[in-house]
Amino acid sequence: MVKQLNSGPVIQKEKETATKMIHLYCKKKHHQRQLCPKCQDLQDYALKRLSYCRFGKGKTACSNCKVHCYQRDYQNRIKTVMRYSGPWMLVYHPVYAVKHLLNK
Ligand SMILES: [Zn+2]
Repeated sequence: MVKQLNSGPVIQKEKETATKMIHLYCKKKHHQRQLCPKCQDLQDYALKRLSYCRFGKGKTACSNCKVHCYQRDYQNRIKTVMRYSGPWMLVYHPVYAVKHLLNK
């Protein structure tokens, strides 16, 4: 049996936010126009985890989640990205940032 992948609006928004934050981080930190391979890898991973998130449309912010579905290494990396990009999101994408904060 193939597991149904998440594709609802909640997950979709989360994916957009994650993508934006990773792009921002790479642009500021690694000074790349395109995502560098490491950030690309992280983004692929994050999007995949969202697709497989067991809570689907009932999902809350990942930082609230009791299920740590990320591997240690990726978890640390995404945390670094979030911490770095969080404040920038307020500048560039205030709607996303505010939503993200409200979800906490
Ligand atoms: Zn990068």
